Amino acid sequence: MKPKLLCKSLLRSLPRRSRITCLSLETQSEKVGFFVSVGLTNSSIRFIFGYGVVPKGVCAIKITVIGCGGAFSDNDYLYHQSFMIEENGRKLFFDMGKDVYPHAMKKQGLSMKDVDSILITHGHDDHIGGLGTLGLRRYDWKNKPTHWSKAPDPSYAPKLYLAESFKDELWGALRLGLETNEGFVGTLDTFFQVVPIANNQHWDFEGWDMQLVSQIHVMTGSTIMSAHGLFMEKGEHRIFLTGDTQFFQPRQVMYFYDKATFIITDCETAGTNLKFPEGTEVYDTIQDGEKVTLPWPGKEVDPNGMMVMELLAQGIEPYKWGCIKFMSGVHSTYAEHAGYPSANATKLTPEIKKKTWMSHYGDHVVLHKDAFGNSVNWQEQARKDGLAGFVIPGQVFEFK
Ligand SMILES: [Zn+2]
Repeated sequence: MKPKLLCKSLLRSLPRRSRITCLSLETQSEKVGFFVSVGLTNSSIRFIFGYGVVPKGVCAIKITVIGCGGAFSDNDYLYHQSFMIEENGRKLFFDMGKDVYPHAMKKQGLSMKDVDSILITHGHDDHIGGLGTLGLRRYDWKNKPTHWSKAPDPSYAPKLYLAESFKDELWGALRLGLETNEGFVGTLDTFFQVVPIANNQHWDFEGWDMQLVSQIHVMTGSTIMSAHGLFMEKGEHRIFLTGDTQFFQPRQVMYFYDKATFIITDCETAGTNLKFPEGTEVYDTIQDGEKVTLPWPGKEVDPNGMMVMELLAQGIEPYKWGCIKFMSGVHSTYAEHAGYPSANATKLTPEIKKKTWMSHYGDHVVLHKDAFGNSVNWQEQARKDGLAGFVIPGQVFEFK
């Protein structure tokens, strides 16, 4: 809370050796903050009192980008994806990938003590890889509680929000590192204050209405791996962090894209060749002299195991470019967000594009190259294509 201090000028005139004590009270409609300052000058003691009022419902939420690289990011700039959502001193981390704790957090001047809560979208290493280390380091090794609620001070265990159906899966991924300990058996509840979110459940985070939005991330044929994105709402602000997702299916998810005032989505940038003009025919490779068209290429494409979605095959074979990265197919892509004809996907409206920031992209973006080695300024390109841009580590979004 930041009360509008009516004594700003008085504060400035305070003696150097001053103590300020703040107190805040909440009424139904507003928060009132009081402060008392005791200052010591050479000859006297001075007291100053002040107060400020902040109406409730005024948001001051802040989202800091801690890391925003894709799974195959391999530099110490982008790191893996994590956003820190901050309100009233509480810090909720949206995903905690492999590079996030401690490296990316350290870079933003944060330590493990800054983690109040974590929300995990799904079980890939670039989203959960930092969780085990954080759990172990935060653990109360002196008292060794087997459940956080039995600890003398349960605050060692960060809150862990996740879809109810995902709890066992996550433990499956973390179990090897956290279960067998000297003298006791650990569970997820040993290291985290797990808050399972049931289907269609809403919960409160500092006055924000929070909701998970499940989307298709990976499909084997018999199993679908969902990614549980976050939709949060307060006042006029409606923030949608998608997590990892294949390009959305309008009928089901368009509702959230329309409703949101601010979106951060995953965006795969591999396979995008910005040098080729829009409207170009798209092929994945050449087989037996035949151009094979999209959509998704089959198993036998490309001898190097590289699948190229967006490539002009005007006599040019894709695998001639050593720098082409394969596309995973489990993320929404830049071409889809930008609405290139080659993406063969539903086009976003200009209104949705304007509020859409992109994350979870490849290293070549910061190297100002497209996946084919052409020089590209991606931020400029994104603006040209009507999108808000690519988020970068350290970037802060404030909602007031
Ligand atoms: Zn993933």
